[in-house]
Amino acid sequence: MERVYNVADVRGMFPSLQNKVQGKPLIYLDNTATSQTPRTVVEDIVSDYYERKANVHRGVHTLSQEATARQEETRRRVRDYINADSVEEIIFTRGTTEGINLVASSYGQRFHEGDEVILTVMEHHANIVPWQLLQSRVGIKLRVVDINDKGELDLEQYESYFNDRTVMASFTHVSNVLGTINPVRDMIATAHRHGVPVLVDGAQASPHLRIDVRYLDCDFYVFSSHKMYGPTGIGILYGKKALLESMPPYQGGGEMIGHVSFEHTTFADLPYKFEAGTPDFVGIAAFSKALDFIESVGLGNIEAHEEELLRYTTEKMRASIPGLRIYGEARHKSAVISFLVDDIHPYDIGMLLDGLGIAVRTGHHCAQPLMERLGIPGTVRASFAAYNTVEEADAFVSGLKRVVEMLR
Ligand code: PLP
Repeated sequence: MERVYNVADVRGMFPSLQNKVQGKPLIYLDNTATSQTPRTVVEDIVSDYYERKANVHRGVHTLSQEATARQEETRRRVRDYINADSVEEIIFTRGTTEGINLVASSYGQRFHEGDEVILTVMEHHANIVPWQLLQSRVGIKLRVVDINDKGELDLEQYESYFNDRTVMASFTHVSNVLGTINPVRDMIATAHRHGVPVLVDGAQASPHLRIDVRYLDCDFYVFSSHKMYGPTGIGILYGKKALLESMPPYQGGGEMIGHVSFEHTTFADLPYKFEAGTPDFVGIAAFSKALDFIESVGLGNIEAHEEELLRYTTEKMRASIPGLRIYGEARHKSAVISFLVDDIHPYDIGMLLDGLGIAVRTGHHCAQPLMERLGIPGTVRASFAAYNTVEEADAFVSGLKRVVEMLR
């Protein structure tokens, strides 16, 4: 049984939420870009630097062994968090972006000219550009799945794209612009019927939804700690063991080797084969405190709380902002609201909201092809996390109303 949700208790765990911006109490609605960080995570990082910093995997001395133990404990926590089979399937990276680059560079070495990779029009640049690099290097072809008016993927088109040249499908679990929660389990099953492996970009799903990689049966799943109340610069690549074993290393260096000589070098076993150099072991250790936070509050509770904020804010915006256009009205949607009002420039809305202490994001949200598809240069985007409140939603909508009246 998950605990009853008390948003005041949750807020109390986040010191940064007490801050003022432009002399106003901060209302932080840019959670899609990054979340705020609970005290426990920050304190864990500070303690490491003050009391116990030592490099991992390198020494017999106590501090080094303890640092290694903390890092490997996080690996076990992540394995359990996403229900992976083994710790060998959990690779620490710098973030979602690096995870996708790793797969495109390493797995992509088996692709040939004319091979096809299926993407969708709602991808973040992180899940477009690494494949384009392969396109220019090898000559692969990208097939891009379109959306309907609600911002849901055209699944018939998706299925129609599979043929005997298809070598990979790579798509986001949740859109960072539209909020659409894609039916990834079904999409993975479709790909597997055609013998094609799937990478899921989980950057926007992992902070909000229960991820079960075995249930999804994805081949790769990537996400970032900083969007999950954890430290920056840490990411996770999950990969099925057999696939990871079959892949060449991504980067060379210390930690990832078995034995090095100038004649011949052998590589370490998983997961270390893909972890060249000193990782951000302080951040990795502290990431387990972020997982503690999520688990103590309950991911199901967070999801329900955010869903309620999404419903409440959307209805209130529609009722009180004439000329409002919301981009993304999928039936399954995460707590992200991208919008425009009349022909007011999104930057103007964002700037004036900032003056009220309200942090929203404006622009193309690293999804320029999606903006092009929607025929707009950008949007304003408000996104919610575990600590946002109904009062903040009220302040956001009334602030927006004021700002829009000024700009008209
Ligand atoms: N994919 C999606 C859907 C995202 O929203 C983001 C970041 O906003 C990324 C990938 C890139 O994540 P990172 O910058 O942490 O690597």
